[in-house]
Amino acid sequence: MADKDIPKGGEFLLIPGEPAQCFTVEDLTDEHRMIKQTAYDFVRGEILPRMEELEKQNAELVRKLMAQAGELGLLGTDVPEEFGGLGLDKISTAVVTEAFGIAGAFAVVQGAHTGIGTLPIVYYGNNEQRAKYLPDLAAGTKIAAYGLTESGAGSDAVGGCRTKAVLSEDGKHYILNGEKIFITNGGWADVFVVFAKIDGEQFSAFIVERGFPGFSSGAEEKKMGIKGSSTTPLIFEDCQVPVENLLYEPGKGHHIALNVLNIGRYKLGAATVGSCKAVLDMAAKYAAERVQFGRPIIEFGAIREKLARMCCKAYMNESLNYRTVGLIDAALEGMDPNDPSYPDKASQTIREYNIECSISKVFGSEALDYIVDENVQIHGGYGFVGEYEAERCYRDSRINRIYEGTNEINRLLIPGELLKRAMKGKLALMPAAQKLQGEIMDYMPALVELPDEPLAYQAHMIEMCKKAVLFVAGVAAQKFMQKLAQEQEILLRVADMVIETFAMESGFLRARKALASQGEDKARIHLNLVAAYVDETIPRLHQIANEALAMCAEGDELRMLLIGLRKLLKYQPQNGIALRRAIADVVSDKGGYPLE
Ligand SMILES: Cc1cc2nc3c(=O)[nH]c(=O)nc-3n(C[C@H](O)[C@H](O)[C@H](O)COP(=O)(O)OP(=O)(O)OC[C@H]3O[C@@H](n4cnc5c(N)ncnc54)[C@H](O)[C@@H]3O)c2cc1C
Repeated sequence: MADKDIPKGGEFLLIPGEPAQCFTVEDLTDEHRMIKQTAYDFVRGEILPRMEELEKQNAELVRKLMAQAGELGLLGTDVPEEFGGLGLDKISTAVVTEAFGIAGAFAVVQGAHTGIGTLPIVYYGNNEQRAKYLPDLAAGTKIAAYGLTESGAGSDAVGGCRTKAVLSEDGKHYILNGEKIFITNGGWADVFVVFAKIDGEQFSAFIVERGFPGFSSGAEEKKMGIKGSSTTPLIFEDCQVPVENLLYEPGKGHHIALNVLNIGRYKLGAATVGSCKAVLDMAAKYAAERVQFGRPIIEFGAIREKLARMCCKAYMNESLNYRTVGLIDAALEGMDPNDPSYPDKASQTIREYNIECSISKVFGSEALDYIVDENVQIHGGYGFVGEYEAERCYRDSRINRIYEGTNEINRLLIPGELLKRAMKGKLALMPAAQKLQGEIMDYMPALVELPDEPLAYQAHMIEMCKKAVLFVAGVAAQKFMQKLAQEQEILLRVADMVIETFAMESGFLRARKALASQGEDKARIHLNLVAAYVDETIPRLHQIANEALAMCAEGDELRMLLIGLRKLLKYQPQNGIALRRAIADVVSDKGGYPLE
């Protein structure tokens, strides 16, 4: 994509989606496919057969497997070549992350290590720090962790931080005191990126090594899921951190914390792409084998409909995640990693897509929760007992809605960022919302003429959803003005509309590409998945939008608003049941997720 063609973050709400601007999994290059295959082979060959042992928190085995992964290059896609990594694009990281996504707790170990553990040093380390730490981290001979959360600093990680750093009298060390909690890889890691306030004021990041005097990790948490990962407190008692281990600049820790979390969010989304598909495969396999009333349960409509819905979620999740990573990659293209300002520029660029990153995190974690839940249901009583994988997957999935920013915080970020950009004039949302309010009364849905091509109606409805987002957000902004930030229930509804619109459009653009490259027959599964998902989603969005408007007005004013909204989201139901039957046929034939 040329620079001018790359949509800005959040801009998808204002412009019609273009298939050429949407990266899809079908666009992976041969090199991406090779990396993906290597990662899946490693996970299937080395990790999955050892899941039982790994669930017992076998640190030695984890270390061995991490070193093996490092040897294959699977920990170094984001690390520059000169520091022992492969220095590849973000799509390469996404395909590796997708593959590790099927590895239960090991995915969390690998994800925290390569993401929040390593990336602060990649992006914010100076060359000495990068040369000292990155080669071992890329090789997997050392494990990384990220210490931000404290007992009083969870969602409010920066404001609530109490860990304090004070420069020693001789000026050689920062002396850290405080405690971090819930730190992934806490019990095993060798290198920790830790946040503390210098003199209790300047929020800053430090690289701490296990072995520094005054550092220790506490007892393992007893968790609901991801039991094979380590989660412990980190304790700093007059811990001596050499001054050269200050990461980036004093008082600029929030740049690191927030930007790295953005990356963590789309990486979490990518991991759920793998797990959504793998759990659907598990469900389809079990349903084909389990016989009741003399028939495999996969022959029952109730089960087929579940499989079809799971497949729709997995497809949208895959589509929107690769679209997001594709946008980031396109925006990063051409930047020179050796340019001293690269880290700042790159993290600024990734920040541009923080709305899309939050969407990836929220949609991915909730799609997976839906899929693991239905998988338990398809397994019946066997889904509830420990010897089947369905139970572990159900437990493991739950954490995704909590870390990397809870889904509430990520949802709130979406309208918050949109409004911020609108105020700064970076996104022309206000003029678009005002124009829409002027046009809406004259708009006649019955007169809209659509081209005679597959998904034309869905494409039209997705554009209408964008208008509905502008309409509702515009009305809410006018009504509450500066106080809108306090109206969280309305903001959450706007966020849901934004998330689902992005999801539907991502699936749609992918299906359009498949249609163009494969023809209607071969692209049929794409077309059905999109049509079925849109069919269920539009009425739900309409209801959400009604609720938001009802908080903004009453009486005649509300009636007029609801009439306007009805015009935008007037929807002719498709035969959703038939579409889902057709999808289930393909899932059943393929024994799981029907696409690559
Ligand atoms: C297994 C596990 C691994 C973890 N790994 C790491 C790690 O490696 N490094 C690290 O630093 N941290 C880690 N965490 C911590 C994790 O990031 C936090 O738990 C998370 O950010 C939420 O913080 P909290 O638990 O204090 O919840 P709180 O912030 O207390 O939130 C409680 C509830 O209130 C809601 N809430 C809070 N503020 C608002 C608001 N302003 N508006 C609306 N709702 C709000 C939240 O959404 C949530 O539903 C991990 C946690 C777990 C459980």
